[in-house]
Amino acid sequence: MENIAVIGAGTMGNGIAHVFAQKGCKVQLIDAQASALEKAIATIGKNLDRQIAKQIISAEDKAITLANIQTSTSIEHGVANADLVIEAATENSDIKKKIFASLDAYAKPDCILATNTSSISIGQLAAVTKRPSLVIGMHFMNPVPIMKLVEIINGEATAIAVTDTIVALTKTIDKIPCVVKDAPGFIANRILMPMINEAIHAFSEGISDAATIDQIMKLGMAHPMGPLQLADYIGLDVCKNIMIIMEEGFNNAKYAPCPLLVKMVEEGKLGVKTGEGFYKY
Ligand code: NAD
Repeated sequence: MENIAVIGAGTMGNGIAHVFAQKGCKVQLIDAQASALEKAIATIGKNLDRQIAKQIISAEDKAITLANIQTSTSIEHGVANADLVIEAATENSDIKKKIFASLDAYAKPDCILATNTSSISIGQLAAVTKRPSLVIGMHFMNPVPIMKLVEIINGEATAIAVTDTIVALTKTIDKIPCVVKDAPGFIANRILMPMINEAIHAFSEGISDAATIDQIMKLGMAHPMGPLQLADYIGLDVCKNIMIIMEEGFNNAKYAPCPLLVKMVEEGKLGVKTGEGFYKY
């Protein structure tokens, strides 16, 4: 696949643009905010410099990668030539549905529409298009240039040939595809988020302090980062929202966000991005 469009140039979008451009694809990076596009290009430049410093790529590779990325604030123009669009805009189902409706209107009829959503149903997004068989989930992990996993989510209507194409493409960018069905939280967040939520319950009950809870999971389970620190990196608002999506999606109170998680979000303690969560930054 030669032409890829990425919608949303935030944390995930810039990483996705980076990895495809580095493998020689022509990437159109699209965001509603021109300032987000400027910031994304600067971030990609810095991340490429890091790869040069580690001798993973050369200075020439950096120049070629950056030359493969064009930016636009218009979905209509940005997706016109795309063979694949990967949507990585803000995690909000109304925003994503509007984007998918315009992708359906402006992308070529055979263009595959993928979403990097962490939790929104692929079926819901496919339903606003006239091409549900071409809609699929491509759930990259943060930071995209480093993390190997891409969770590939088949909607009910996703064509087998589309899954095969996306699995093969994922391998060409040196990632490892894992295919799952469309269900709340898919697999990664369905297992990760209840673990984080349980750690917050244990912390709020005073069973131990945050550092000890994290240390137990690092030393005992060989996790590289403890659940409370990881929650701070993901963002406590994001953790809370994914728990609510699973609670509603499965209609099961076992997924209810811990009251302390809800309180911390209300207090604006969202983790690293606000300078305070379970730890201070
Ligand atoms: P972000 O807030 O960093 O970036 C989102 C970008 O989307 C912003 O630049 C915003 O301007 C842009 N945007 C919003 N509405 C738009 C529109 N209508 N058209 C074009 N651009 C628009 O968010 P993020 O953390 O990069 O997350 C993006 C997606 O990736 C979400 O669906 C999220 O759930 C998913 N995700 C995030 C992570 C993570 O760790 N951050 C991990 C996996 C998946």
